[in-house]
Amino acid sequence: MLLTITYTGQNTAELGYLLYKNPNRAQVFELNHGRAYVFYPEVTFERTTAALLLDLDPIDLARGKVGSTGGGLFDYVNDRPYVSSSFLSTAISKVFGTAITGRADAHQALSDTPIDLTATLTMLPCRGEQGKLHSVFEPLGYAVSYETFISDESFPDWGESKYVNLTIRGTLRLRDLLKHLYVLIPVFDRQKHYWVGEDEVEKLLRLGSDWLPEHPERAYIMNRYLNRRRALVNMAFARLAADDAPDEAEEPAEKPEKKQTLNAQRLGSVVAALKSSNVARVIDLGCGEGNLLQLLARERQFTQIAGVDVSHVALQRAVDKLKLEHAGDAQRARVQLMQGSLTYKDARFAGYDAACVVEVIEHLDLPRLTAFERVLFEFTKPPLVILTTPNREYNAHYENLYAGDLRHGDHRFEWTRAEFRTWAAKIAQNFGYTVHFSEIGDADAVCGAPTQMGVFTLSAHAHNEIPRSEEAGLYAR
Ligand code: SAH
Repeated sequence: MLLTITYTGQNTAELGYLLYKNPNRAQVFELNHGRAYVFYPEVTFERTTAALLLDLDPIDLARGKVGSTGGGLFDYVNDRPYVSSSFLSTAISKVFGTAITGRADAHQALSDTPIDLTATLTMLPCRGEQGKLHSVFEPLGYAVSYETFISDESFPDWGESKYVNLTIRGTLRLRDLLKHLYVLIPVFDRQKHYWVGEDEVEKLLRLGSDWLPEHPERAYIMNRYLNRRRALVNMAFARLAADDAPDEAEEPAEKPEKKQTLNAQRLGSVVAALKSSNVARVIDLGCGEGNLLQLLARERQFTQIAGVDVSHVALQRAVDKLKLEHAGDAQRARVQLMQGSLTYKDARFAGYDAACVVEVIEHLDLPRLTAFERVLFEFTKPPLVILTTPNREYNAHYENLYAGDLRHGDHRFEWTRAEFRTWAAKIAQNFGYTVHFSEIGDADAVCGAPTQMGVFTLSAHAHNEIPRSEEAGLYAR
């Protein structure tokens, strides 16, 4: 699929500076499921067009990349390689990551100026919703036109195709156009290829901050962008409303905290992922002082809650936090704490629908990680595993860390996004899981977000399979 952006005016080749892409050179970018190409089909004084061509590998999408299980998201016969979809949004953020922030160094003035821009999107899925193209794009200042097709000329009965070629034209800053496209492509295309979790609420509010609160179709946009996940949509609405609220001059004291701490966002994302998968029995491995357990205990969906930690002191604090000393019999039966180590096989870990491992693996010595992998994914084998760990690339944002430092004195390692994904994909493949990734916390285009999360789902056929691991390393005892 193809996105073109045309700048008309004077000296229009400067579009290259705003996009950080040289008009004289075609460039290729490797993406998870294919490649993106950027090139300029026309460069004249009055008119310059940049094109982003996305070439997805349909086999990768169906089967997953060689050596990974990150794919396998779609059927073999799927429309993904041919349509403007969430993959195109991901490519926009990856390829035009700086442009979307509006930073343009020597060309800042141009970047800050509304200019005459036209964007075309080929094959945007839009079944029966062409009216929405107008009501969504026009309030943002675009003139909207689109081309429709009949599905197959030999079979006129099949009617119109669900895809349109869309053209929008307006006078606006380039970064605004990119933000609109990033958010609105997946609004029309309903089949998102990523896990829609709380981090998507963050992203939506961040990229929509200038235009979404006032948009007459904001409910439709939020609902669709967040995949109609009611809890997330409600959260987005609440945050928008909080941001809208006039400052109460008389009562400056208790302003609602708009920004959650990273820890709160992380635990919130884990709870959201658990709630959306209808699990009832949850075990928190490396539960520490019980922050996650406390959130889980508030939700009636979770009928059995357990926490495991190696640290007696941490468990003692969890007992206090959860007020277990004074709890009634039902609550004591519902919430259990156990001292144990994640690198030793332990029958008490079995029987839960989901296991959470939140900011724990980086505390394990790397040579013991294999033992942990086997304990959890081979012997315990819960149907769902939610695991988070720091994204080392983000450390560049922490001013008090020197290059190469880790975030915490007890961390034995921290992984880049690529390292985490490679590890997780290998685990998934060895033990019969599929894994989806998401990011937690404020992300930037270059380093990503501070925390990374993998959600592992046990494949149906792997439930009864006798696990076989190729690892010859340290065995769990
Ligand atoms: N999940 C908690 C705590 C993270 S800190 C939270 O998000 O707040 C990491 C925790 O892992 C610590 O409480 C530490 O005691 C525990 N831990 C480290 N190595 C462990 C091991 N081998 N087995 C069990 N727990 C371990």
